[in-house]
Amino acid sequence: MARVIVVGAGVVGLSCAVRLLERGHRVDVIARDLPLETTSAAAAALWYPYRAYPFERVTAWSKATYHELARLAGDAASGVVMRQGTEVHRSRTPDPWWSSAVPALTRVSTMPAPYVDAWSFEAPVVEMPVYLPWLVSRIAELGGTLTRMALNALPDGPGAEVVVDAAGLGARLLAGDGSLSPVRGQVVYVDQVGLDRWWLDESGPTYVVPRSSDIVVGGSADEGEWDRTRDPDLDRQILARAAELVPELRHARVRGHKVGLRPTRPSVRLELEQRRKTRVVHCYGHGGAGVTLSWGCADEVAGLVDG
Ligand SMILES: Cc1cc2nc3c(=O)[nH]c(=O)nc-3n(C[C@H](O)[C@H](O)[C@H](O)COP(=O)(O)OP(=O)(O)OC[C@H]3O[C@@H](n4cnc5c(N)ncnc54)[C@H](O)[C@@H]3O)c2cc1C
Repeated sequence: MARVIVVGAGVVGLSCAVRLLERGHRVDVIARDLPLETTSAAAAALWYPYRAYPFERVTAWSKATYHELARLAGDAASGVVMRQGTEVHRSRTPDPWWSSAVPALTRVSTMPAPYVDAWSFEAPVVEMPVYLPWLVSRIAELGGTLTRMALNALPDGPGAEVVVDAAGLGARLLAGDGSLSPVRGQVVYVDQVGLDRWWLDESGPTYVVPRSSDIVVGGSADEGEWDRTRDPDLDRQILARAAELVPELRHARVRGHKVGLRPTRPSVRLELEQRRKTRVVHCYGHGGAGVTLSWGCADEVAGLVDG
């Protein structure tokens, strides 16, 4: 069994840590930002493969994660709930490239204008303020640790036999990877108004994701934008788009806001790099789908560590 340092305490690093601990490794997580301060905490977090590549690997990781999250939904403490929802389109659209990752996808035959096509399916919805602390408690239960520390290089040498690089956008520095770039996203939280279905319109994108006591309303996708300052005009546009999609939201009270930077790359980097004294497993660049890919990637990381 290896001694593993996981760098990063977002959904990717924490999921990898849990899997490695379950396989009997000794695992210490190091992170500059604690889980609720990460990009992962800003995720909506609907299971949906978005802005992550390549399609084939992403479909396989998404499918594995779907099944694991569906299993976790059986534990109310995890914050995972399975919800039916609908994705709408303003033009005729073929089945999505990831359709084999979900057990069933149903075409909706009639939609009100301006939508002309839609499909519905059941998807995991993950309440990140509950789920991230739940993952941390799993790590503690299994004997792992979590320490806040900002690194300027990946650990190397004694004590770092294996390093999992799950630093998200931070891998620009830690792995010297200039192909990583941010896609800024902004969300608004409103009171629960009795919604139990999620809604998604990729144009915008616009999404409405109900949780137990609030609703996450999004969104935006600004490529190459590093500014995490909230834009109040954008909030108004998001709410107007969402109310067009789900009229019940028209008078919902706003509770809060969040801005996050999706760690985007031409393809997710999940591979082993053999350094002089350390084996590094890179696992970053999950774009707009870190939650959706988390368990599939964690399983593959664990396989590389074991191998
Ligand atoms: C508005 C918004 C909505 C989204 N909605 C969804 C959704 O519905 N479904 C979905 O699947 N995904 C969604 N995403 C995408 C998802 O949030 C990301 O893909 C995911 O958070 C990436 O997780 P991560 O663990 O790789 O990175 P992060 O959550 O960013 O974590 C990176 C970790 O690495 C640490 N780190 C970085 N640099 C260093 C360093 N130098 N030293 C030490 N530690 C370091 C950080 O402190 C942090 O702990 C959304 C994103 C946004 C912004």
